Amino acid sequence: MIRWALKLSEFKIEREHRLGIQNVVVDVLSKNPVDNADGSQISCVALRALALNSREQLIREHREDPELGHIYLYLENPDEGSVNATVCEGWSQDFKLIDGLLFYAKYCTMLGELRVHISQSLRKAIMQEFHDLPLAGHLRKRKTYLKLRDTCYFLYMRKYIFKYVSTCDRCQTFNYKNAIPAGRLIPIVSNYPNEIVTLDLLDPYPASRPERYRFILVITDHFFKWSELIPLRKASAQAIANALFENYISRYGAPICLISDDGPEFISDVFEHLSHRLDIKHIKTVAYRPQVNLTGKVNRTLMQTIACFVEENHDNWDRFLHELVLFRATHSS
Ligand SMILES: [Zn+2]
Repeated sequence: MIRWALKLSEFKIEREHRLGIQNVVVDVLSKNPVDNADGSQISCVALRALALNSREQLIREHREDPELGHIYLYLENPDEGSVNATVCEGWSQDFKLIDGLLFYAKYCTMLGELRVHISQSLRKAIMQEFHDLPLAGHLRKRKTYLKLRDTCYFLYMRKYIFKYVSTCDRCQTFNYKNAIPAGRLIPIVSNYPNEIVTLDLLDPYPASRPERYRFILVITDHFFKWSELIPLRKASAQAIANALFENYISRYGAPICLISDDGPEFISDVFEHLSHRLDIKHIKTVAYRPQVNLTGKVNRTLMQTIACFVEENHDNWDRFLHELVLFRATHSS
């Protein structure tokens, strides 16, 4: 406090009244959105649906939960004879009962929300939403844990989540180590948007129906780490050049530098087709190994997610590429 007082004494502070309605930032921090928990504030879709549509079921699950059911009963009625009041008295201080739902009150989420308790019977459904769906993207253990921790709570959740992810079939099949061989790190640095654009061709996947796509072109702005995912029927240089033009260059302009893991010859062919179409000369290629720079590493996570996903959706995977782009945007930083 003294340090803060000394620091603040350097400033000339003027106090100004601001209407609550204009003071949005402070408002968000000071309000606890679950104080009147009708369920709409719960950020997890599966839980929110339960809280809104099957509230009685959710309350029953909380009340009958083998792990924290006794805390629920104690909070509901401290004189309840069936629970051990000595055990519950201290422990129950970490929890709060709001409109019939049990919340963990010791630590809030980053938005200052309380974390709703997940009873044992609901954990699998929650894990599927937070790990298995396309938007969840089969993240690794720690990232899955951090995502869940910012929404909900249950006993031993870290252990449960780590075990779930390490026994997930998709993750076992498609994850590979991010370790980079020592001595091969040659980072490529971009200083502004559209300076360096990378192309990665993922192939071949089971043909989607009815479009018959078999390849995915990943166009990434190295500066923003933003990717466009374009499904392709053919992997020819002409098809790639057309996709690059229609989905990237026509919107953002030609990049200064275009690189690909398939070597300069591949890019030269793409460039030749683009030159015919655009009459541009200033795209140049540089040697590029995706495994030795950050974009490559992040792209690899994306490719791994796509591989998991295509495997699950054999012939309609092309319909979910937008979700995968969003996943990529959310998890690349
Ligand atoms: Zn997984």
